[in-house]
Amino acid sequence: MVRIVSVSPDQPSDAPIPFAVVAGLCAAEGLTALAVLAPPPATFDPVPLAAMLAEGVGDMAYLHEHTALRLEPTGLLPSARAILAVALPYQSDSGSDGLRRARYAAGKDYHNLLRPKLGRIGRALEQRGGWNYRAACDSAPLNERTLAQLAGLGWLGRNGLLIAPDAGSYRVLGFLLTEAPLAPRHGGHGEDRCGRCTACETRCPTAAISGRRVISERCISYLTIEHRGVIPRALAERFAGWWFGCDLCQEVCPWNRFAPPAGDARLLGADRETELLAVRAETFDAHFAARAIRRIGYERFRRNLLVALWSLGRHDDYRPIIAEALPLVTAQAQELGTTA
Ligand code: SF4
Ligand code: SF4
Repeated sequence: MVRIVSVSPDQPSDAPIPFAVVAGLCAAEGLTALAVLAPPPATFDPVPLAAMLAEGVGDMAYLHEHTALRLEPTGLLPSARAILAVALPYQSDSGSDGLRRARYAAGKDYHNLLRPKLGRIGRALEQRGGWNYRAACDSAPLNERTLAQLAGLGWLGRNGLLIAPDAGSYRVLGFLLTEAPLAPRHGGHGEDRCGRCTACETRCPTAAISGRRVISERCISYLTIEHRGVIPRALAERFAGWWFGCDLCQEVCPWNRFAPPAGDARLLGADRETELLAVRAETFDAHFAARAIRRIGYERFRRNLLVALWSLGRHDDYRPIIAEALPLVTAQAQELGTTA
């Protein structure tokens, strides 16, 4: 239920803002979980970042940038007195039994949805006392999952995702750094509840989950979204139709039985296979306007379709993709040992 909260402009600037006010603002935006951290949070580097960077991060070179901010999030707004951590559920479907894409990409790009929501919350708080704010949703170098775990929004599961016992993992995260005096409030979760479950590790088709971490170079999500080159044949043959992201390690996670419906109808959507196959360079931007898929660009989109269709043995459907002779697609076809 959405609660409307009145905003009083005469609130003394240092009086703590009741948690119910913040909760009401979040509920009005469809955000189902929130917590408030007092900055600076304890020094944290549980990834740990340095070790991760030393191991290599593939085509995610951006992780090498702004490492200080990843370890000290208040660098984004040094005057911040609180960090609001929120989650927006996105549960949708992942397409047909044929071509499949990650649920989070079904509708509007969540970055462009969640950041404005955080901005509206920031502005509502700002109106109470002139407090500056900074909203971040995968748009600033924050160590997001770690921050959310620290805030009590869940624990980091064996599949590397943040899981809450009452909401599963089909959620995207956002953060609002604000000068507003919000009292710290733990989200109530954080204890590791994977227990002896290894369902995600067993289900992962490319053996990308090992030792409680995801090996990005083997992960279909990484390979279809971040990776810019040719996808190795040995991995491609296990794709089983995934063309943008992969949800298998979430589909088998028992905690996702408790995943709530999407917090915003604009996150929902469907991809018809005939329409996907008909997208061409000149229609790509319009077809995926406002969706996360647009970020990978046309050539990688066609590479992904080739790999997905090839993994399903649908030669007649991928032949026109190779015939288009895009350099990356041609190289991918050579890797797969197939031709138009
Ligand atoms: S997203 Fe898919 S490929 Fe990546 S770890 Fe999960 S199951 Fe494995
Ligand atoms: S499937 Fe099991 S091991 Fe994997 S994240 Fe979920 S609870 Fe943890």
